[in-house]
Amino acid sequence: SIVEEEDAPEDLEPRAPIVTVMGHVDHGKTSLLDYIREENVIAGESGGITQHIGAYGVTLDNGQKISFLDTPGHEAFTAMRARGAQVTDIAIIVIAADDDIMPQTKEAISHAQAAGVPIVFAINKVDKPTANPDKIKEGLAQMNLLVEDWGGKIQSHDISAKTGQGVQELLEKVLLEAELLELTANPNKLASGTVVEAFLDKGKGYVSTILVQAGTLNIGDYVLAGTTSGKVKAMQDERGKNVKKVGPSQPISILGLDGAPQAGDKFHVLEDEREAKQIAARRSQLQREQSVRTQRH
Ligand code: GDP
Repeated sequence: SIVEEEDAPEDLEPRAPIVTVMGHVDHGKTSLLDYIREENVIAGESGGITQHIGAYGVTLDNGQKISFLDTPGHEAFTAMRARGAQVTDIAIIVIAADDDIMPQTKEAISHAQAAGVPIVFAINKVDKPTANPDKIKEGLAQMNLLVEDWGGKIQSHDISAKTGQGVQELLEKVLLEAELLELTANPNKLASGTVVEAFLDKGKGYVSTILVQAGTLNIGDYVLAGTTSGKVKAMQDERGKNVKKVGPSQPISILGLDGAPQAGDKFHVLEDEREAKQIAARRSQLQREQSVRTQRH
């Protein structure tokens, strides 16, 4: 069954923060995510990130890890929250220093605040001659958001997602913020977490990117995710490398589900394959009945 039991404190171990990047359109979310993805190839590991799987993990020079949800825009964030999924520990909000604090920036700020997720501001495009980061910080102060430079507690860093200036320092500030949160999880139990995205691949079948939030996922585990289920046949990281087990805070693509679960669906590993199938079938049945009912009305 899928009863989630409270973990004993001695079973909890530190885990990496899970970070979402939000902000106004064209302020540089994609550029920042791309820069981080391309620059942070784990030392000694061959090959960069080869596929876009909706989430990726990076290891900094000091060995510390951060997991990024690579679904820029708060549409994904709100869609997941609407489905009851709370996957983000920290929000990076990107603001272009050559622009103003725009409506979508304000929306992103209120979404993060409503979710109780700490914000780190990335004041972007400081390589541009027209950039005016102070104006942005002043604007934030007027919204009662005092960044460190302005004597406040909110972290912010001036960056260029184009040249990479300040990105390392931004990530260090994210890790500082993460330390305050004392993020932990129990890796020694059946895995559970959230679906980030899923699609049907012509050659591989259903590929689902999931984020393990507790426990450890192994090849051969029986997974129940939304209205789908299946035995994990293979797991691949963002470098296309096959892995056998995945612990908390790690994003991974899995093969073996009998359908595509929706972004924001919870997933659980069950001991009994039949039970996983039955629950998934009952959920699809309910969903069909509901859609018939809405069509009638
Ligand atoms: P998004 O809509 O927030 O994902 O923004 P993008 O990452 O697509 O960036 C929008 C535009 O701004 C693109 O043309 C980028 O090349 C450009 N851009 C992003 N970051 C920087 C930066 O730091 N400096 C400069 N000069 N241009 C940038």
